[in-house]
Amino acid sequence: MASRKLLLLPGDGIGPEAMAEVRKLIAVMNEETNAGFETEEGLVGGCAYDAHGASISEGDMEKAMAADAVLFGAVGGPKWDSVPYEVRPEAGLLRLRKDMQLFANLRPAICYPALAHSSSLKPDVVEGLDILIVRELTGGVYFGEPKEIIDLGNGQKRGIDTQIYDTFEIERISGVAFELARTRRGEVCSMEKRNVMKSGVLWNEVVTATHKAKYADVKLTHMLADAGGMQLVRWPKQFDVIVTDNLFGDMLSDVAAMLTGSLGMLPSASLGAPDARTGSRKALYEPVHGSAPDIAGQGIANPIAMIASFAMCLRYSFNMVAEADRLEAAISAVLDDGIRTKDIASEGVQTVSTSDMGDAIVAKFRA
Ligand code: NAD
Repeated sequence: MASRKLLLLPGDGIGPEAMAEVRKLIAVMNEETNAGFETEEGLVGGCAYDAHGASISEGDMEKAMAADAVLFGAVGGPKWDSVPYEVRPEAGLLRLRKDMQLFANLRPAICYPALAHSSSLKPDVVEGLDILIVRELTGGVYFGEPKEIIDLGNGQKRGIDTQIYDTFEIERISGVAFELARTRRGEVCSMEKRNVMKSGVLWNEVVTATHKAKYADVKLTHMLADAGGMQLVRWPKQFDVIVTDNLFGDMLSDVAAMLTGSLGMLPSASLGAPDARTGSRKALYEPVHGSAPDIAGQGIANPIAMIASFAMCLRYSFNMVAEADRLEAAISAVLDDGIRTKDIASEGVQTVSTSDMGDAIVAKFRA
């Protein structure tokens, strides 16, 4: 039996409530399909600060580096609003991304037919939507130096951020996008601002060259990122995979996400480079939402984003494509049956608890 090492980092707020539903699925898969998941647990965020005075301990970092995949819940909450900046809850997530060198962030925007009416767009615009945004996560303007505010001495200050991309960074992120497109509709749209940014000119050149050299079977188009934002709300179904830099990806993935309704539905994956020897990638899977302190502890959080993040883990870390398909189908079937947590329910509709939603998905998965 294959052994698959998972590190679970539930975190704060609703993180542990959502993770509990994934634990049920792991148990079922070990029992029914001999999946061989071995799980370890760790602390991240505010709970890690309370226990160790750090947003993640060195011991848990070691576990993360040794795991085949990390499942992350959410971090933060008002309790830790005034802790020192270096040990704030989010620092744990940033440390994981940095040390695991997770340069590719995958954010699917899928609109389940049963929820098409809860989007702010017309149902026919979003129903059946299935976009994957591939965002570069470790470079660009969020990290480029110089990054500072300088005093100009004349009563004025100057804020500086620097957008930097090297060829290898663009090659590797576009490679991820092309490879994922091959498993989908086979189309990539690259977005930058080559009309006003030198980094955009280079981005465009390198994506084009990478496509020509290795991925000519995939259809490649280019779009200016501002036009891309407009097209995402005009007719999102024109897109399959979108590849873009850190800054534009941050914004465009949030736009795409909200096409589909609630934050409680959105999964994500962050991947590193494949290991030269084993071919496996470091990877972290997490819902897009935060720790939702306003509803934490009430048992009403929607666990679907966390469960769908686990489905991405099955697909991308373990190549368990059939199981991932089955889990995503189970989520869809539960929604078709009208089962709703509060965040996705229309007014007057009866709602279920976090645990009931998890149980309903487990039952469909088993069936
Ligand atoms: P949030 O995502 O936690 O919540 C926003 C709103 O969406 C809230 O009303 C919440 O109740 C609702 N919501 C979110 N997830 C839900 C779910 N699964 N089911 C039902 N409703 C859900 O964002 P926020 O309120 O801006 O931030 C709260 C805390 O989370 C802050 O401390 C913030 O720093 C942190 N945060 C963490 C992450 C992360 O861990 N990756 C991401 C974003 C925010």
